[in-house]
Amino acid sequence: MATIDGLPPLREVIRAHDLVAKKQLGQNFLLDLNLTARIARAAGDLSACDVLEVGPGPGGLTRGLLAEGARRVLAVEKDPRCLPALEEIAAAYPGRLEVICGDALEVDVLAHLTPPVRVVANLPYNVGTELLIRWLTPKNWPPFWDSLTLMFQKEVAERIVAKTRTEHYGRLALLAQWRCDAKIVLTLPPEAFTPAPKVHSAVVHLTRLPAPRYPADEAVLMRLTAAAFNQRRKMLRSSLKGLGPEIEAKIVAAGLEPTARAEEIPLEGFCALARELAK
Ligand code: SAM
Repeated sequence: MATIDGLPPLREVIRAHDLVAKKQLGQNFLLDLNLTARIARAAGDLSACDVLEVGPGPGGLTRGLLAEGARRVLAVEKDPRCLPALEEIAAAYPGRLEVICGDALEVDVLAHLTPPVRVVANLPYNVGTELLIRWLTPKNWPPFWDSLTLMFQKEVAERIVAKTRTEHYGRLALLAQWRCDAKIVLTLPPEAFTPAPKVHSAVVHLTRLPAPRYPADEAVLMRLTAAAFNQRRKMLRSSLKGLGPEIEAKIVAAGLEPTARAEEIPLEGFCALARELAK
């Protein structure tokens, strides 16, 4: 069957290169090129951007990104078995695909990217959250990327976009929304993947803000939200006791109720309290 890019269908690619999915590498592949093109489009106009893709696998999303016009794609893949399939894609799109075989947690990608950069990936579930946290907490803000368009397990996606007073509201929502606009742009059932995972997945699109939404020291804010959400059902005056003397007075000075619980405090409130704690 013909495909839009003239390359073989992904099922054939997987068969030809014997890419039996490995669970320990979080390998759940997307084989529908219409779907991968849709994910690429969710990242916006890529024609003037370099795209960083983590975990291209047999290259379904990579092909979506290139077919949708990405200026260049840098793909970092840990599994060397995928390289021959990715080389075939590179040959079909001369000069537009660079593949690095390595662990995305260790590879220094910056030397291989020219701004503006967007990150688009169907992330391996075992390192997805860690990569997101790294991308959200660089030494300096703004970071090297303009936007992140990332597939996660649906529950993780909900934790990223969660609003105050909801079940999934917590540290990940605060960290993401402190520095980005974040929204779920696509939800997918397990059958969209081969092999099918146990849970639904969702694509989150995060657009960086030029500066954090409210001023606060990152380390203080992280310490504060860790303490507050480690005991999310407790009142702040009790969950934050370990953060120093006069905590109750600081909570009041930040305009918050000492009897409130973490999940009732909006981002703005946590930032105000972080500023009080830093005084
Ligand atoms: N992008 C492909 C797709 O959408 O069909 C594959 C996605 S699959 C969920 C995750 C991919 O990440 C796999 O190809 C896996 O080998 C790769 N991977 C796992 N851990 C990695 C790591 N630490 N660094 C880079 N790639 C990794």
